[in-house]
Amino acid sequence: MSDSMIRQEHEPPKGKLANLRTLWSFVRPYKLQLFLASVFLLIAAGTVLIIPTALGDIVDKGFSNDNAQKVNDYFGVFIGIVAVMATATAFRFYFVTWLGERVVADIRKAVYERLITLSPEFFEENRPGEIVSRLTADTTLVQTIVGSSVSVWVRNFLIAVVGTIWLFVMSPKLMGQIMIGMPIGLVAIVLVGRRVRNLSRRSQDKVADVGARANESLAALNIVQAFTQEKNEAGRFSRFVDDAFAVARSRIRVRAALTFGMIFLIFGAIASVLYQGAQDVMTGTMSGGQMLDFIMRAVFVAGAFGALSEVYSELQRAAGAAGRLAELLSAESKIKAPAQPIALPAKVDGDIHFDNVTFHYPTKPDTATLEHFNLHVKAGETVALVGPSGAGKSTVLQLLLRFYDPQAGAVKIDGVDIAKTDPKAFREHLSFVPQETIIFADTIAENVRYGRTDASDDDVRKAVEAAAATEFVERAPEGFDTFLGERGTRLSGGQRQRIAIARAILRNAPILLLDEATSALDAESELKVQEALEHLMEGRTTLVIAHRLATVKKVDRIIVLDEGKIVAEGTHDELVAQDGLYKRLADLQFGSTA
Ligand code: ATP
Repeated sequence: MSDSMIRQEHEPPKGKLANLRTLWSFVRPYKLQLFLASVFLLIAAGTVLIIPTALGDIVDKGFSNDNAQKVNDYFGVFIGIVAVMATATAFRFYFVTWLGERVVADIRKAVYERLITLSPEFFEENRPGEIVSRLTADTTLVQTIVGSSVSVWVRNFLIAVVGTIWLFVMSPKLMGQIMIGMPIGLVAIVLVGRRVRNLSRRSQDKVADVGARANESLAALNIVQAFTQEKNEAGRFSRFVDDAFAVARSRIRVRAALTFGMIFLIFGAIASVLYQGAQDVMTGTMSGGQMLDFIMRAVFVAGAFGALSEVYSELQRAAGAAGRLAELLSAESKIKAPAQPIALPAKVDGDIHFDNVTFHYPTKPDTATLEHFNLHVKAGETVALVGPSGAGKSTVLQLLLRFYDPQAGAVKIDGVDIAKTDPKAFREHLSFVPQETIIFADTIAENVRYGRTDASDDDVRKAVEAAAATEFVERAPEGFDTFLGERGTRLSGGQRQRIAIARAILRNAPILLLDEATSALDAESELKVQEALEHLMEGRTTLVIAHRLATVKKVDRIIVLDEGKIVAEGTHDELVAQDGLYKRLADLQFGSTA
């Protein structure tokens, strides 16, 4: 994985803030929470602005000996303000964070609902790993925005603007003095701050490299150990870790310098204002309380400006994330139902017709994978597709499942062009057993039920029986309720296949597409899988990519494919007699047929 790819996965590009508009449609349904969040935010920001004045008043008027009651009053008011601030801040936090979590949950659902309908083409153009990262990392970024940054931004904006004006009104002279010093300090801080940010980003990338490296080698641990590369891998990993440390070290150095500068500047400024202020207090133009008020407010305002610049870059990152999510939300599947889809008859016979089909994969526009391909499979017939690797056998099944539409010609089921149907409706009539069985992290029963979700327990049991899988299922620790680990790693290859076959039996569709597994099964499992398959093919139209002699001998017709064209067809014996590609393949695959 290259550096830039990793960066792309972990760091969305900075986006235009306009992208954040996408988020608005997700926030809009929660107007009440938004309103409450805004109200509490205003109250909290207001109290922050009032506190310096309250404190100033306490110093000026509350510390007087002549009126003990006044002391109580001023402290009472002060505590009241603090209580309002604490309450408003807590409620603001609650509603804003609630909004963030709710909006992200809704975005995740919406994105997933969209993704699950997209055609394979989309996932060829976009790496699934990156898409999952959008679903998790990008949405998390968005969550920080909706659930905090926006409110931090608004609050600090209010404090900065109102506070600055207030400062000017209080003492134009002191404020003027700050205004002269401030730009120099600000420029320095912004410049150094930018460097810190760059270094932080590089630091994150380096940590991502460390993760990617560990991921790659741990995922291939058996290869690492088989080739006794542990020491080299550890060495390589340690170089990545040291790289990450080196970048982190530069970052913390700059950051330490920045901390020095910031503290020196802030307290230097406070000292200088204090000095000026002290003169004013002595001449009587300002009271001690007012000076405290001024200084405290100035510190708050400076803090607010600092927070604004930080949040701005966060907003930009989130805008990038929101932009990428918006892309996913608006992604259109290439395989769609037309405006007026044609429905297949309720009872499909299973007559399949490839009518002069020419097809190329979207990523390979110049090479036709199937060219003028004609194939008619009658209802109930079993046809095997054979041919060298890359001949286009799987492509035929992909087109029948309508994962892609051909560029020319049509694929018809019972005379209906499937491109004119709703893919969800017509796929009901198909059952598919892929070469690689997909097992979900669920129980055996639920994995079989994937074929037909409303099937009863009894139907599931019967399907498992027909797939010759009852024996191992019953031997499993909790029978049908045994949980299969992710990707079904707890099952052998043959057992996984039989689960897939049970799933297909349960589906009970008139058309069966079978991509036979090449994995070498032991003789006994092979026999069982074979039996299960024969059971499955009964009374259905079956198109099978055949790798086994046993299958090929039993089918009604064999189609020999080469480079996307049918080069021969007939029964096993007929084709062997022709002495063509089939005989060569058969000799290679199954030993001499002569
Ligand atoms: P095998 O027996 O090895 O599975 P096959 O006969 O099933 O081979 P296909 O998988 O149909 O062959 O592939 C036919 C051609 O189309 C090959 O050249 C392959 O590289 C190409 N191909 C397959 N899938 C895609 C895809 N998703 N995008 C681009 N090209 C593809």
